[in-house]
Amino acid sequence: MGLTKVEACYTVTCDGCGLDFEPGDYIPHYPSEGAAEDDVLGYGWIVWKGHWWGEDCAPACECEGSFREHDYGEGPCEADHDETCKCEGFKPREEAIG
Ligand SMILES: [Zn+2]
Ligand SMILES: [Zn+2]
Ligand SMILES: [Zn+2]
Repeated sequence: MGLTKVEACYTVTCDGCGLDFEPGDYIPHYPSEGAAEDDVLGYGWIVWKGHWWGEDCAPACECEGSFREHDYGEGPCEADHDETCKCEGFKPREEAIG
């Protein structure tokens, strides 16, 4: 009744550098994971298989190609780091994602 305190909310932290997502001078709280994802994507963040990375913090693939060079994690490597690269899909090194 009246005012109810809701504890459940989400804040976003970069899996790469550990910094909070802080687009202004405050840390936004979200009512759901989807709301958080929608917002951070608008700021160039990357959300991939449960990982959250700031714009410059996504790790490279095992083949050295970047996340974007793998069609944002969805496709084979399109990087020109190696003409013979046959990487089928984005696969960050284990140590990069824990
Ligand atoms: Zn970061
Ligand atoms: Zn690759
Ligand atoms: Zn590659």
